[in-house]
Amino acid sequence: MNSICVVGSLNMDLVINVDNMPKLGQTVIGKNLKKVCGGKGANQAVAIARLGANVNMIGKVGDDDFGQSLINSLKQDKVNTDFVKIRKDIPTGLAFITVNKDADNSIIVSPGANYDLNEEDINDCIDAIKCSNIVVTQLEIPLKTVSYLLKVAKSLGKYTILNPAPATKLSDEIIKNVDLLTPNETELEILSEFQIRNEDDIVLAGRKLLKKGVKELVVTLGEKGSLYMNNNTIKRFKSFKVKAIDTTAAGDSFTGALAVALSNDNNIDKAIEFASKVGALTVTKCGAQSSLPYLEDVLNFKG
Ligand code: ADP
Repeated sequence: MNSICVVGSLNMDLVINVDNMPKLGQTVIGKNLKKVCGGKGANQAVAIARLGANVNMIGKVGDDDFGQSLINSLKQDKVNTDFVKIRKDIPTGLAFITVNKDADNSIIVSPGANYDLNEEDINDCIDAIKCSNIVVTQLEIPLKTVSYLLKVAKSLGKYTILNPAPATKLSDEIIKNVDLLTPNETELEILSEFQIRNEDDIVLAGRKLLKKGVKELVVTLGEKGSLYMNNNTIKRFKSFKVKAIDTTAAGDSFTGALAVALSNDNNIDKAIEFASKVGALTVTKCGAQSSLPYLEDVLNFKG
């Protein structure tokens, strides 16, 4: 069976509810503190595993309870964690998420060990890349590492998927080693440095990235679906109608699902249809990893 390698972040999300956000210099009492496993890399690895594919995770945590909980949680989801390194002197990545009574949030991320994932780690974990046919990554690890990873993956003949979140301007070196890029609208705007006001602008922005060497692009548009582009084709895909409760992790599950469908030799149309089902199911539940569907849910989903 084919394998997928996910290279990216693992974060423990500490979520706390408050009535009102504290003002500068103010202390407020929060309630319902929750510890939730997150990080885009880990979310995408879990999404892939729940959809039935073999997945190796490459990442880094600190030698602390949060790191251990993240590894244990991945293991429970049948993600191979043999390539998650533990670093003694750097804490695990954390996200401090405060949610007020209107459900608005403010987030501080402490990248911790995620920002220590380096080129040497990629070399140490080369077996995880060699045994996979698809390599998936995001931008919550150093850009230098992403750049090196994509170069190595391409030199080994792997299909590379970059979910460019959180968005930042990318070097030509990174762009040219990406087979499939999966930005949302905001990320596309930042990457292409092109202001998007309508769907024609999405196409123009996409073309800028294709010109730089990205082979294929799926722009996700939330409940409006997605748009696929390569140098010869543009195709529009609708979303599946669902009652959306919480859109967290829709992009993560969509990218993970694309990787699974493509590793099973589906063509891109079939892969996007599958990923759209997975994205739709994800928004019907609260949370990040807690909302990621299992293959059975997708097969039973009529849409
Ligand atoms: P991100 O979380 O990265 O912003 P999107 O919100 O664009 O990603 O969602 C990714 C995909 O998930 C969409 O292209 C769509 O197929 C599906 N999706 C997201 N929101 C909804 C929704 N409200 N209803 C149905 N499908 C959705």
